[in-house]
Amino acid sequence: MLDLKNRLQRITHLNQAAAVLEWDQETHMPEGAEESRARQVGTLRSLAHEMLTAEETVSLLEKASPESDIDSDLVRVVRRDIDKATRVPSSLIAEMAEASGRSKSAWMKARGTNDFSLFAPHLEHILELAVKHAEALGYDESPYDALLDQYEEGMTTRQVNEVFESVKKDLIPIVKQIADAPQISDAPAHGDFPVDRQWDFGLRVAQELGYDLNCGRQDVSAHPFSTTFSITDVRITTRSDERFFNPAFFGTLHEAGHAMYEQGIDLALEGLPLADGTSLGMHESQSRLWENLVGRSADFWKHYYPQAQQLFPEALSGVSGDAFYKAINSVSASPVRVEADEVTYNLHIMLRFELEQEMIAGRISVADLPAAWNDRMESWLGIRPENDTDGVLQDIHWSLGAIGYFPTYALGNLMSVQLFNAAERDIPALNEQIATGQFAPLLGWLRSNVHQYGRRRSANELLEKATGSTLNAAPWLDYIRQKFGALYGF
Ligand code: ZN
Repeated sequence: MLDLKNRLQRITHLNQAAAVLEWDQETHMPEGAEESRARQVGTLRSLAHEMLTAEETVSLLEKASPESDIDSDLVRVVRRDIDKATRVPSSLIAEMAEASGRSKSAWMKARGTNDFSLFAPHLEHILELAVKHAEALGYDESPYDALLDQYEEGMTTRQVNEVFESVKKDLIPIVKQIADAPQISDAPAHGDFPVDRQWDFGLRVAQELGYDLNCGRQDVSAHPFSTTFSITDVRITTRSDERFFNPAFFGTLHEAGHAMYEQGIDLALEGLPLADGTSLGMHESQSRLWENLVGRSADFWKHYYPQAQQLFPEALSGVSGDAFYKAINSVSASPVRVEADEVTYNLHIMLRFELEQEMIAGRISVADLPAAWNDRMESWLGIRPENDTDGVLQDIHWSLGAIGYFPTYALGNLMSVQLFNAAERDIPALNEQIATGQFAPLLGWLRSNVHQYGRRRSANELLEKATGSTLNAAPWLDYIRQKFGALYGF
């Protein structure tokens, strides 16, 4: 076991070093270094991949005799990782990497000039490769299962489709009801919010939630993210808008939620492949829980609004706590996913999820994609994008070959409410605690029910143990009905 663990740790170190280089690339690196950095990261990642799939790792794995539950979980997870890593021929991996490089440039150009035809042939190629990839990985029911499994291990397309259908059926009428109701002004969240004070406030609140800056730090980047170099070094980034409160503050809470998950993993797993979030959906549930269930709640702002008002008198001196709470929760259908509110966000995801499946199954052609996108937008959200840049071209994911990734965002939203409800059941005073700025009990609950396990338990297993049910849409729908019913009077 010891030899296997040592080898796995050395592989992890290569991946962690690559992550440091990638973090530097997004935060500090001069632009001119792009080429050399890409080669450096490529070298480290391929060394890690070679070491993982090498004969030596396989034979250590065969000889390993687990001495603890962690050991048994480790052997099981690494076996599966190696199996997946060796199923895909390296020629296909190289072909996918090359295609995504070219396709990303084409996507940027198409987006900049609002010309989908520049991206279309690249997307066709990406889809062909995705089907080949799925065939290589193997699946039970549909090729999409294999693609989804890369990001959300253990969830099937059938399971996700069933859950999403039930969301869609109830959510589309709710969106229509809100659109027909008297609108809520989001003006209080717009105004003079000096960037340095936003930075200090967001980071202080993240710390008070439980993000440990002794094992983390925050930097500025164009697109916020969190990244892990070890359980004791989990970093976040943010960006600010001096005229709009939401992006930096809720972005910081979101990324801190991801980071607290990784900081909460059992230290006994350090350096092992188990020391990671169990799935992207579960990861997103942690960011969404802190960002929305906590950070956009009325209880939370009972505690923090007086502080915000004191810090930002230019924008908030004449604004009541109630008006501010409403402003940060106002709903308005936007064609752009990253601007979407809590209510409409999942519809953006389900649109992509449906179209991905239809493209992979060959039921819709790339040429018909923009029209299909716009039609569905119109029938679900009541808006039609004015151009493809704000429509089918808005996301980078497909250009990178990330097909099967989108559903994890919505899965995270659904799981976040399941978990929060279970925490509320186990901690009767939870809402009072949040209203008085005490977050340790909630974080402790998440640590013991989710974080500590890393990849030792699947998302469905964690959900079932903590909440009594596997993935389930009903709690999220109830939450939306209750919160936004009160705000919009239905
Ligand atoms: Zn996230």
